[in-house]
Amino acid sequence: MKLGLYLHFPFCLSKCPYCDFNSYQLKEDNQITSYISALYQEISAYSQKLKKNNITTIYLGGGTPTILSGIQIYSILKFCRDKFNIDKNAEITIEANPGTLDSEKLKLIIESGIDRLSLGAQSFNNVFLKILGRIHNTKSIIDSYFLAREIGFSNINIDIMFALPGQTSEDLQATLKKAISLKPDHLSLYNLTVKPGTEYYKKYKKGKLKLPNEDEEFEMYNWAMHFLKENNFEHYEIANFARPNKKSMHNLLYWQNKPYLGIGAGAFSFIRGYRYMNYENPVSYIKEIMKGKLPIDNGEKISLRKRMIETIILGLRTKDGVGYKQFKTRFGVSLSDIFSETIDKLVNLGLLQKGNYRIKLTKKGIFLANTVFREFVD
Ligand code: SF4
Repeated sequence: MKLGLYLHFPFCLSKCPYCDFNSYQLKEDNQITSYISALYQEISAYSQKLKKNNITTIYLGGGTPTILSGIQIYSILKFCRDKFNIDKNAEITIEANPGTLDSEKLKLIIESGIDRLSLGAQSFNNVFLKILGRIHNTKSIIDSYFLAREIGFSNINIDIMFALPGQTSEDLQATLKKAISLKPDHLSLYNLTVKPGTEYYKKYKKGKLKLPNEDEEFEMYNWAMHFLKENNFEHYEIANFARPNKKSMHNLLYWQNKPYLGIGAGAFSFIRGYRYMNYENPVSYIKEIMKGKLPIDNGEKISLRKRMIETIILGLRTKDGVGYKQFKTRFGVSLSDIFSETIDKLVNLGLLQKGNYRIKLTKKGIFLANTVFREFVD
Protein backbone atom coordinates (compact mmCIF):
# COMPACT_ATOMS: atom_id res chain seq x y z
CA MET A 1 0.00 0.00 0.00
CA LYS A 2 1.19 3.50 -0.85
CA LEU A 3 1.18 6.01 1.96
CA GLY A 4 1.74 9.72 2.50
CA LEU A 5 3.60 10.82 5.62
CA TYR A 6 2.80 14.07 7.42
CA LEU A 7 5.04 15.42 10.21
CA HIS A 8 3.68 18.24 12.35
CA PHE A 9 5.85 20.92 13.99
CA PRO A 10 3.63 23.03 16.23
CA PHE A 11 6.00 25.85 17.21
CA CYS A 12 6.21 29.38 15.77
CA LEU A 13 8.21 32.46 16.67
CA SER A 14 4.94 34.24 17.45
CA LYS A 15 1.25 33.47 17.09
CA CYS A 16 -0.46 35.27 14.19
CA PRO A 17 -3.79 36.86 15.21
CA TYR A 18 -5.84 35.05 12.55
CA CYS A 19 -4.29 31.60 13.02
CA ASP A 20 -6.32 28.65 14.30
CA PHE A 21 -3.75 26.01 13.34
CA ASN A 22 -2.32 23.78 16.01
CA SER A 23 0.59 26.14 16.68
CA TYR A 24 2.13 27.75 19.78
CA GLN A 25 4.64 30.49 20.37
CA LEU A 26 8.00 28.93 21.19
CA LYS A 27 9.09 29.82 24.71
CA GLU A 28 12.32 27.83 25.14
CA ASP A 29 14.57 25.90 22.75
CA ASN A 30 14.31 22.74 24.85
CA GLN A 31 10.61 22.53 23.87
CA ILE A 32 11.88 21.63 20.40
CA THR A 33 14.38 19.03 21.59
CA SER A 34 11.84 17.18 23.75
CA TYR A 35 9.30 17.38 20.94
CA ILE A 36 11.77 15.85 18.46
CA SER A 37 12.51 12.99 20.91
CA ALA A 38 8.78 12.29 21.07
CA LEU A 39 8.54 12.35 17.25
CA TYR A 40 11.33 9.77 17.08
CA GLN A 41 9.47 7.52 19.49
CA GLU A 42 6.24 7.81 17.55
CA ILE A 43 8.02 7.10 14.26
CA SER A 44 9.71 4.05 15.82
CA ALA A 45 6.35 2.79 17.10
CA TYR A 46 4.95 2.75 13.56
CA SER A 47 8.13 1.54 11.91
CA GLN A 48 7.52 -2.22 12.11
CA LYS A 49 3.80 -2.00 11.37
CA LEU A 50 4.28 0.10 8.26
CA LYS A 51 7.66 -1.07 7.01
CA LYS A 52 6.04 -2.72 3.99
CA ASN A 53 4.22 0.43 2.94
CA ASN A 54 5.79 2.54 0.26
CA ILE A 55 5.90 6.18 1.34
CA THR A 56 5.50 8.26 -1.78
CA THR A 57 5.19 11.75 -0.30
CA ILE A 58 6.33 13.45 2.90
CA TYR A 59 5.11 16.80 4.15
CA LEU A 60 6.67 18.75 7.04
CA GLY A 61 3.99 21.20 8.13
CA GLY A 62 3.14 23.36 11.09
CA GLY A 63 3.43 25.65 12.85
CA THR A 64 6.80 26.55 11.44
CA PRO A 65 8.97 23.52 10.65
CA THR A 66 11.82 25.84 9.68
CA ILE A 67 12.01 27.07 13.27
CA LEU A 68 14.14 23.92 13.70
CA SER A 69 17.86 24.07 12.92
CA GLY A 70 19.12 22.66 9.63
CA ILE A 71 20.74 19.74 11.42
CA GLN A 72 17.54 18.89 13.30
CA ILE A 73 15.58 18.81 10.03
CA TYR A 74 18.30 16.72 8.38
CA SER A 75 18.36 14.23 11.28
CA ILE A 76 14.57 13.80 11.28
CA LEU A 77 14.55 12.95 7.58
CA LYS A 78 17.44 10.53 8.06
CA PHE A 79 15.55 8.87 10.93
CA CYS A 80 12.44 8.54 8.73
CA ARG A 81 14.54 6.87 6.00
CA ASP A 82 15.96 4.41 8.55
CA LYS A 83 12.54 3.52 9.91
CA PHE A 84 10.27 3.62 6.85
CA ASN A 85 10.37 2.46 3.29
CA ILE A 86 10.54 5.79 1.47
CA ASP A 87 10.22 5.78 -2.28
CA LYS A 88 13.37 7.04 -3.96
CA ASN A 89 11.28 9.49 -6.00
CA ALA A 90 9.17 10.64 -3.06
CA GLU A 91 8.12 14.29 -3.14
CA ILE A 92 9.25 15.84 0.17
CA THR A 93 7.89 19.26 1.06
CA ILE A 94 8.70 21.61 3.91
CA GLU A 95 6.65 24.65 4.89
CA ALA A 96 8.97 27.59 5.49
CA ASN A 97 8.51 31.05 6.90
CA PRO A 98 10.73 33.66 5.24
CA GLY A 99 11.98 35.02 8.57
CA THR A 100 13.41 31.63 9.58
CA LEU A 101 15.67 30.77 6.64
CA ASP A 102 19.36 31.23 6.01
CA SER A 103 21.77 29.69 3.56
CA GLU A 104 23.24 27.11 5.95
CA LYS A 105 19.76 25.87 6.91
CA LEU A 106 18.59 25.73 3.31
CA LYS A 107 21.67 23.72 2.31
CA LEU A 108 20.97 21.12 5.01
CA ILE A 109 17.30 21.05 4.05
CA ILE A 110 18.20 20.22 0.47
CA GLU A 111 20.83 17.68 1.57
CA SER A 112 18.17 15.95 3.68
CA GLY A 113 16.31 15.13 0.44
CA ILE A 114 13.58 17.76 0.76
CA ASP A 115 12.84 18.84 -2.81
CA ARG A 116 9.88 21.19 -2.43
CA LEU A 117 9.72 24.42 -0.47
CA SER A 118 6.42 26.03 0.44
CA LEU A 119 7.03 29.63 1.35
CA GLY A 120 4.43 31.29 3.59
CA ALA A 121 4.63 34.73 1.99
CA GLN A 122 0.91 35.65 2.44
CA SER A 123 1.31 39.14 0.91
CA PHE A 124 3.84 41.30 -0.87
CA ASN A 125 2.64 44.40 0.91
CA ASN A 126 4.31 45.32 4.21
CA VAL A 127 1.17 47.00 5.54
CA PHE A 128 -0.85 43.79 5.19
CA LEU A 129 1.99 41.66 6.53
CA LYS A 130 1.90 43.82 9.65
CA ILE A 131 -1.88 43.53 9.90
CA LEU A 132 -1.50 39.75 9.66
CA GLY A 133 1.07 39.85 12.47
CA ARG A 134 3.72 38.18 10.33
CA ILE A 135 7.35 38.37 11.44
CA HIS A 136 8.67 38.90 7.90
CA ASN A 137 8.49 41.70 5.36
CA THR A 138 8.44 41.79 1.56
CA LYS A 139 12.22 42.00 1.34
CA SER A 140 12.73 38.88 3.45
CA ILE A 141 10.30 36.92 1.23
CA ILE A 142 12.20 37.91 -1.90
CA ASP A 143 15.60 37.28 -0.28
CA SER A 144 14.51 33.83 0.98
CA TYR A 145 13.03 32.95 -2.39
CA PHE A 146 16.19 33.77 -4.35
CA LEU A 147 18.41 32.16 -1.75
CA ALA A 148 16.40 28.93 -2.05
CA ARG A 149 16.70 29.07 -5.85
CA GLU A 150 20.45 29.69 -5.62
CA ILE A 151 20.88 26.73 -3.28
CA GLY A 152 19.05 24.49 -5.70
CA PHE A 153 15.31 24.33 -5.02
CA SER A 154 13.57 23.72 -8.34
CA ASN A 155 10.09 23.41 -6.88
CA ILE A 156 8.84 26.37 -4.83
CA ASN A 157 5.31 27.19 -3.77
CA ILE A 158 4.24 30.62 -2.59
CA ASP A 159 1.26 30.91 -0.21
CA ILE A 160 -0.85 34.04 -0.59
CA MET A 161 -3.86 35.12 1.46
CA PHE A 162 -6.64 37.39 0.27
CA ALA A 163 -9.80 39.06 1.58
CA LEU A 164 -7.65 40.68 4.26
CA PRO A 165 -8.89 43.50 6.50
CA GLY A 166 -9.04 46.66 4.41
CA GLN A 167 -7.72 44.93 1.27
CA THR A 168 -8.96 46.03 -2.15
CA SER A 169 -8.90 44.10 -5.39
CA GLU A 170 -6.05 46.37 -6.57
CA ASP A 171 -4.01 45.44 -3.47
CA LEU A 172 -4.36 41.74 -4.22
CA GLN A 173 -3.53 42.33 -7.89
CA ALA A 174 -0.28 44.06 -6.93
CA THR A 175 0.66 41.18 -4.60
CA LEU A 176 -0.08 38.51 -7.20
CA LYS A 177 1.82 40.39 -9.90
CA LYS A 178 4.83 40.57 -7.59
CA ALA A 179 4.52 36.89 -6.65
CA ILE A 180 4.37 35.82 -10.30
CA SER A 181 7.33 37.98 -11.23
CA LEU A 182 9.45 35.67 -9.05
CA LYS A 183 8.39 32.71 -11.24
CA PRO A 184 7.27 30.25 -8.56
CA ASP A 185 6.30 26.72 -9.60
CA HIS A 186 3.11 26.67 -7.59
CA LEU A 187 0.84 29.17 -5.90
CA SER A 188 -1.71 28.57 -3.14
CA LEU A 189 -4.34 31.25 -2.68
CA TYR A 190 -6.45 31.18 0.47
CA ASN A 191 -9.13 33.58 1.58
CA LEU A 192 -8.91 34.74 5.16
CA THR A 193 -11.59 33.13 7.31
CA VAL A 194 -12.14 34.35 10.82
CA LYS A 195 -12.12 31.35 13.14
CA PRO A 196 -13.34 31.16 16.75
CA GLY A 197 -10.58 31.26 19.34
CA THR A 198 -8.38 33.67 17.38
CA GLU A 199 -7.53 37.31 18.11
CA TYR A 200 -9.23 38.25 14.87
CA TYR A 201 -12.42 36.58 16.04
CA LYS A 202 -12.53 38.73 19.18
CA LYS A 203 -12.01 41.86 17.08
CA TYR A 204 -14.61 40.73 14.56
CA LYS A 205 -17.19 40.18 17.31
CA LYS A 206 -16.53 43.70 18.60
CA GLY A 207 -17.02 45.06 15.07
CA LYS A 208 -13.36 46.12 14.87
CA LEU A 209 -12.33 44.04 11.87
CA LYS A 210 -13.40 45.41 8.51
CA LEU A 211 -13.29 42.62 5.95
CA PRO A 212 -14.10 42.78 2.23
CA ASN A 213 -17.73 41.80 1.52
CA GLU A 214 -18.71 38.72 -0.51
CA ASP A 215 -18.87 40.61 -3.82
CA GLU A 216 -15.42 42.11 -3.27
CA GLU A 217 -14.04 38.70 -2.33
CA PHE A 218 -15.60 37.20 -5.44
CA GLU A 219 -14.06 39.92 -7.61
CA MET A 220 -10.60 39.24 -6.11
CA TYR A 221 -10.80 35.49 -6.60
CA ASN A 222 -12.23 35.80 -10.11
CA TRP A 223 -9.48 38.18 -11.14
CA ALA A 224 -6.83 35.89 -9.63
CA MET A 225 -8.18 32.84 -11.49
CA HIS A 226 -7.95 34.61 -14.83
CA PHE A 227 -4.61 36.21 -14.11
CA LEU A 228 -2.98 32.95 -13.03
CA LYS A 229 -4.40 31.11 -16.03
CA GLU A 230 -2.96 33.76 -18.34
CA ASN A 231 0.38 33.18 -16.63
CA ASN A 232 0.38 29.47 -17.41
CA PHE A 233 -0.80 28.18 -14.05
CA GLU A 234 -3.25 25.29 -14.02
CA HIS A 235 -6.07 25.83 -11.55
CA TYR A 236 -6.10 22.22 -10.37
CA GLU A 237 -7.76 22.65 -6.97
CA ILE A 238 -10.01 25.37 -5.54
CA ALA A 239 -7.10 27.17 -3.83
CA ASN A 240 -4.15 25.78 -5.77
CA PHE A 241 -2.45 26.68 -9.03
CA ALA A 242 0.52 24.89 -10.57
CA ARG A 243 2.91 25.22 -13.47
CA PRO A 244 3.05 22.09 -15.67
CA ASN A 245 4.13 18.99 -13.67
CA LYS A 246 4.32 20.94 -10.43
CA LYS A 247 1.11 19.93 -8.66
CA SER A 248 1.52 19.08 -5.00
CA MET A 249 1.59 15.27 -4.93
CA HIS A 250 1.08 15.17 -1.17
CA ASN A 251 -2.01 17.34 -1.24
CA LEU A 252 -3.38 15.39 -4.21
CA LEU A 253 -3.22 12.33 -2.01
CA TYR A 254 -5.57 14.04 0.49
CA TRP A 255 -7.94 15.15 -2.25
CA GLN A 256 -8.01 11.62 -3.63
CA ASN A 257 -8.88 10.40 -0.11
CA LYS A 258 -5.85 8.08 -0.09
CA PRO A 259 -4.16 6.79 3.11
CA TYR A 260 -1.66 8.80 5.10
CA LEU A 261 0.12 8.64 8.43
CA GLY A 262 0.32 11.78 10.57
CA ILE A 263 3.09 12.06 13.14
CA GLY A 264 3.23 14.77 15.81
CA ALA A 265 0.88 16.82 17.97
CA GLY A 266 -2.63 17.06 16.52
CA ALA A 267 -1.70 15.14 13.37
CA PHE A 268 -4.44 13.15 11.62
CA SER A 269 -3.97 9.71 10.09
CA PHE A 270 -6.21 7.82 7.69
CA ILE A 271 -5.20 4.20 7.43
CA ARG A 272 -7.19 1.07 6.58
CA GLY A 273 -10.50 2.89 6.81
CA TYR A 274 -9.77 4.45 10.24
CA ARG A 275 -9.25 8.14 10.82
CA TYR A 276 -7.65 9.20 14.07
CA MET A 277 -6.05 12.22 15.61
CA ASN A 278 -3.14 12.67 18.01
CA TYR A 279 -3.31 14.81 21.17
CA GLU A 280 -3.22 18.40 20.00
CA ASN A 281 -1.29 20.00 22.80
CA PRO A 282 2.44 19.25 22.49
CA VAL A 283 2.71 18.75 26.27
CA SER A 284 -0.08 16.10 26.30
CA TYR A 285 1.35 14.57 23.14
CA ILE A 286 4.81 14.20 24.72
CA LYS A 287 3.31 12.87 27.99
CA GLU A 288 1.45 10.06 26.17
CA ILE A 289 4.58 9.09 24.26
CA MET A 290 6.61 9.04 27.49
CA LYS A 291 4.09 6.57 28.94
CA GLY A 292 5.04 4.29 26.05
CA LYS A 293 1.66 4.74 24.35
CA LEU A 294 0.66 5.85 20.89
CA PRO A 295 -0.46 9.48 21.39
CA ILE A 296 -3.92 8.96 19.85
CA ASP A 297 -6.63 11.18 21.33
CA ASN A 298 -9.61 10.00 19.29
CA GLY A 299 -10.53 8.15 16.13
CA GLU A 300 -13.28 6.39 14.24
CA LYS A 301 -13.84 3.77 11.61
CA ILE A 302 -15.13 5.63 8.59
CA SER A 303 -18.32 4.00 7.31
CA LEU A 304 -18.57 3.09 3.65
CA ARG A 305 -21.13 5.81 2.99
CA LYS A 306 -18.98 8.42 4.74
CA ARG A 307 -15.95 7.34 2.72
CA MET A 308 -17.96 7.74 -0.47
CA ILE A 309 -19.14 11.22 0.53
CA GLU A 310 -15.63 12.27 1.53
CA THR A 311 -14.24 10.96 -1.75
CA ILE A 312 -16.82 13.03 -3.66
CA ILE A 313 -16.27 16.21 -1.66
CA LEU A 314 -12.49 15.99 -1.81
CA GLY A 315 -12.54 15.03 -5.48
CA LEU A 316 -14.83 17.92 -6.38
CA ARG A 317 -12.25 20.31 -4.95
CA THR A 318 -10.03 19.35 -7.87
CA LYS A 319 -10.20 20.24 -11.53
CA ASP A 320 -10.61 16.56 -12.44
CA GLY A 321 -13.65 16.14 -10.22
CA VAL A 322 -14.85 12.59 -9.54
CA GLY A 323 -14.49 9.91 -12.23
CA TYR A 324 -17.39 7.41 -12.64
CA LYS A 325 -15.01 4.54 -13.36
CA GLN A 326 -12.65 5.30 -10.46
CA PHE A 327 -15.60 5.57 -8.09
CA LYS A 328 -17.04 2.22 -9.22
CA THR A 329 -13.64 0.52 -8.96
CA ARG A 330 -13.12 1.87 -5.47
CA PHE A 331 -16.56 1.26 -3.97
CA GLY A 332 -18.12 -1.41 -6.19
CA VAL A 333 -21.21 0.73 -6.85
CA SER A 334 -21.77 3.46 -9.36
CA LEU A 335 -21.84 7.11 -8.40
CA SER A 336 -25.22 7.66 -10.04
CA ASP A 337 -26.80 4.67 -8.25
CA ILE A 338 -26.23 6.27 -4.88
CA PHE A 339 -26.15 10.01 -5.45
CA SER A 340 -28.19 10.60 -8.64
CA GLU A 341 -30.80 12.79 -6.90
CA THR A 342 -28.19 15.11 -5.36
CA ILE A 343 -26.14 15.24 -8.56
CA ASP A 344 -29.19 16.08 -10.71
CA LYS A 345 -30.29 18.78 -8.28
CA LEU A 346 -26.83 20.40 -8.37
CA VAL A 347 -26.64 20.10 -12.17
CA ASN A 348 -30.03 21.87 -12.42
CA LEU A 349 -28.75 24.62 -10.13
CA GLY A 350 -25.78 25.11 -12.47
CA LEU A 351 -23.27 24.14 -9.76
CA LEU A 352 -22.18 20.78 -11.10
CA GLN A 353 -21.46 19.51 -14.56
CA LYS A 354 -21.94 15.94 -15.69
CA GLY A 355 -19.51 14.80 -18.36
CA ASN A 356 -19.08 11.42 -20.07
CA TYR A 357 -16.42 10.31 -17.62
CA ARG A 358 -16.75 12.48 -14.52
CA ILE A 359 -18.65 15.07 -12.53
CA LYS A 360 -17.02 18.35 -11.61
CA LEU A 361 -17.84 21.79 -10.29
CA THR A 362 -18.92 24.47 -12.74
CA LYS A 363 -17.34 27.90 -12.43
CA LYS A 364 -20.35 28.97 -10.34
CA GLY A 365 -19.90 25.77 -8.30
CA ILE A 366 -16.28 26.68 -7.51
CA PHE A 367 -17.44 29.92 -5.86
CA LEU A 368 -20.23 28.10 -4.01
CA ALA A 369 -18.27 24.93 -3.26
CA ASN A 370 -19.38 24.73 0.37
CA THR A 371 -23.04 24.80 -0.70
CA VAL A 372 -22.33 21.92 -3.09
CA PHE A 373 -20.51 19.90 -0.42
CA ARG A 374 -23.34 20.39 2.08
CA GLU A 375 -25.80 18.82 -0.38
CA PHE A 376 -23.84 15.55 -0.30
CA VAL A 377 -23.62 15.51 3.49
CA ASP A 378 -27.28 16.33 4.24
S1 SF4 B 1 3.31 31.30 11.25
FE1 SF4 B 1 1.63 30.07 10.38
S2 SF4 B 1 1.23 28.45 11.87
FE2 SF4 B 1 2.50 30.01 12.89
S3 SF4 B 1 1.03 31.31 13.94
FE3 SF4 B 1 1.44 32.26 11.95
S4 SF4 B 1 -0.14 31.41 10.57
FE4 SF4 B 1 -0.10 30.13 12.42
